Parts: sequence; structure tokens; C-alpha cells
Amino acid sequence: MKGFRDIIGQERSIKHIRDAVRTGHAAHAYILDGEKGMGKKTLAAAFAKALQCEKPVEEREDGEPCGVCHSCIMADSGSHPDIINVTHEKAGSISVDEIRTQVVNDVQIKPYSSKRKIYIIPDACLMTQEAQNALLKTLEEPPSYITIFLLADNKEMLLPTIVSRAVCLSMRALGTEDIVSYLQREKGLPPHETETAASFARGNLGKALLLTESEDFSLLFEEVMRVLSGVREMSDVMISGAASEAASYKEKRDDYLEILLLWFRDVLYLKSGGDPEKAVFKNRLYETEASAEQYSYEQLGCIIEAIKTAGSRLKSNVNPEYTYEMLFAAMR
Ligand SMILES: [Zn+2]
Repeated sequence: MKGFRDIIGQERSIKHIRDAVRTGHAAHAYILDGEKGMGKKTLAAAFAKALQCEKPVEEREDGEPCGVCHSCIMADSGSHPDIINVTHEKAGSISVDEIRTQVVNDVQIKPYSSKRKIYIIPDACLMTQEAQNALLKTLEEPPSYITIFLLADNKEMLLPTIVSRAVCLSMRALGTEDIVSYLQREKGLPPHETETAASFARGNLGKALLLTESEDFSLLFEEVMRVLSGVREMSDVMISGAASEAASYKEKRDDYLEILLLWFRDVLYLKSGGDPEKAVFKNRLYETEASAEQYSYEQLGCIIEAIKTAGSRLKSNVNPEYTYEMLFAAMR
């Protein structure tokens, strides 16, 4: 990983971080808050690298890590002895023992080669209540040389007493244009190939990257478009056919319904005179505007409800084909 200048968006957090690095006044705890894919890990890694960089901060440009000293090289290779990435065994939780061994007891040991010791806890929301309480003790009386980064998909899951002892940096959603131009610059992808994925990712660069790299997503998107464009003229038999096709996207079930939901929200938004520039699928305005003509407000309200109902039916294991049949019938 590089420095702050390579991170797009997040200007506000980065300004805060640069100040902390330049003045040498980093807090003992930071919460990086934002959904998966928003760049929490990248930002924490750059922050840690900049704090540990051996080059005097006055000689660096606005707190950027130099990228060439021994410390920066170790930080990049993940082998820096004073940047500790907290790991956990169980997929769904971080136990109190893991927090004790890797953080609470470890903070007593002075840094190995730097002035500071940095702990990064990815998925901090997965800490059990006990684990959080153990960590809280450390945050109440932290040794002067430690900084802990808690990366949280949802900081509501953290104890308020932890949150109140940390500086919270919220990750911001990026504009679709920023994502499209990033994908063009870094991945060489032409805008027309990435606009849909970028809109669908709604400001989440990580998600946009996954979607553009996934052939499945564009196939799924085209399939949903096919249903949308034909549903009003479908016979009962065609509806059942489309429903079993939709039911076959088992793994992509949430994406399928989300595309539909965003689509009809766009339609409703345009119908009520919303700014086309702000539509999610603004590269498909021709179709969304046509649908806005075809459906009444009342129908759109019913369809949006029907999509939500389909989502909860599928979650409670109602037969998917039947669920989609009901949904498509409502859309018709
Ligand atoms: Zn350096």
C-alpha cells in the first residue's frame, strides 16, 4: 500500500490523519466506521505506515509516509513488528482470549523498533461483549506509546464506553463519477463498462471493484433488465418461466432484489420530478423514464412493497419460484 494521496475520497478523514501525523499527536484509539468495501483497511494501513515512518516528519510532504525507509518497506510487506493485525479463529466472532493475548497483555511490552506500537482490529464489531470489556480496560489506561484502530462495519455494535474513548473517522460514500474514473485510471476499464456497477455500488469502491470483476454481475443485471422490459406483456406461463430463471440465482438473491428495488426507486424518483443526474442507474435513463410514464404512483408504491415482501419471504425460506411469481405478477 501507498500513501494518502493514493486514496480517493475520504478527504475529511485524511485531513485529520495528516494533522495527527504532522503534529505527532495521534489518539490512542480510532474507530474507522463504514460498510465493507469502503476502504477502512487501506486507510488504517496508510495511517499506521505514516505514523511509523522513520523519515523525519518535517521532511515529508504533509505527513505522507516516505515509502522507502526500512519501516515503510516492512509496513508494506505486512511484517512490521510494531504494527499488529489482530486475528481471530472463528469466522463470526473475536473472543476475549484473542483480545487478551494479542492486545491487552501485549500492550505491556514496549515497541520493538519504533516509538509507537499500533494495533489494527479488523471486524472490531465481531468482538464479544467480554472481549470489548477487556479492551475497554486498556483504553481506560493506555500506555503512552499505543494506538489502536478499530475497523467497524457498524459502530453501533461497539460499547458506548469504547466509542467515547476513540476518535471516530467515518468513511464516506464516493460519487459514481469518482468510482468510474478510478476504474478507468487504475483498471483501464472504459466508462460504459463500469457505470452500472459503479451506480449499483452506491459509493462503495470495494463493491464496485468486485462487481466489475464479476462476470456474474453483468449477466445478472442483464437478466433483471430482460424481465423488467418484458414483464408488462408476460403471460402466466412466461411469468412462471421468468420466476424459475430468477430462482436459479441462489447466491445472488440479494443482488437480484436490490437491482429491482433500486430500479423502481429510480422510476418513482423520476416520476416525481427528481433530478436525472441523481438517479442510481443514470446510464439507463431511457428505460427508467419510459417506466415512469407507464406506471402510476400507486402501482409503483405496490411494486416497491412487493419487492420488500419478496425479500422477507426468501429470508424465511418461502419457495423462491413461488415468491418470484408473486412478485412478477405484481410488477405486471
Ligand atoms: Zn518511511
